[in-house]
Amino acid sequence: MSIGSLGKSGTCFNNWSKTYYYTPELYFEPKTTEEIKQILCYASEKGKKVKTVGCGHSFSDLACTTDFMISMARYNRVLKIDKEKLQVTVQGGCLIKDLNEVILPENGMAFSTQGTVSSLTAAGVISTGTHGSGANFSNISASVVDLELMLSSGEIIKVSNTENAELLPVVSLSLGSVGVILSITFQCERAFNLHWKQYPDTLGNLHQQVSLIHQHQLQVPLVNQSHAQVPLAHKLHLKSY
Ligand SMILES: Cc1cc2nc3c(=O)[nH]c(=O)nc-3n(C[C@H](O)[C@H](O)[C@H](O)COP(=O)(O)OP(=O)(O)OC[C@H]3O[C@@H](n4cnc5c(N)ncnc54)[C@H](O)[C@@H]3O)c2cc1C
Repeated sequence: MSIGSLGKSGTCFNNWSKTYYYTPELYFEPKTTEEIKQILCYASEKGKKVKTVGCGHSFSDLACTTDFMISMARYNRVLKIDKEKLQVTVQGGCLIKDLNEVILPENGMAFSTQGTVSSLTAAGVISTGTHGSGANFSNISASVVDLELMLSSGEIIKVSNTENAELLPVVSLSLGSVGVILSITFQCERAFNLHWKQYPDTLGNLHQQVSLIHQHQLQVPLVNQSHAQVPLAHKLHLKSY
């Protein structure tokens, strides 16, 4: 069976916010590295562009294409857990939700930072530099220790501080433009608790305190409650072990 026949035509893709709709000529859901390689080689042969998609949560049309689309939904395994180094290695399509809710807590580990939702893939979050809101926390791309990238030729390169080191910052936040990210090792930290504090406050007070709050907190969602008596509430997440 040719790899082309594994691709579906007529699959309509839309991003989470339903602001972009695209129908790729062929839509693939590979499970193996060999299948991904064959798709890329087939695309080169046919002169087609390839876009890789995770959960499609990007608000932009970054993952959209009318040529070939590769979904990472089935390429989602956890490959290695290193409890001593507090590192986890996963395939690009591994869900952050699965890591947060099962894999990391079971191993006494946690991500140092992340966005507000977790139905996102490992490769998706690093590709867009997903971040929280505390001023002293880096984005999730900064926690990439190493990764494997498949180029359009099907060649696989390893990228880390010691191999192809100049590519590490590029591939760790590449907007899906440099190849298919096959696997990623994340630096995690020891599991911690989050204390969620929520209280109403005035806009004036908030303006005075906002930079101080951002210095010390992991996530600071601000909820406008203009319909209620109190105009504003903040939620603070304080870290403890
Ligand atoms: C409700 C909601 C809340 C959000 N909150 C936050 C937040 O708090 N902070 C924040 O920073 N962002 C936030 N985001 C944005 C979100 O974190 C990013 O858009 C993230 O990239 C989505 O991950 P995804 O798996 O859906 O990736 P997709 O949207 O599917 O893809 C994003 C990019 O990654 C590329 N990509 C995906 N997989 C691969 C791969 N294997 N190899 C190479 N490239 C790949 C795609 O081509 C595309 O360029 C939010 C989004 C939503 C919908």
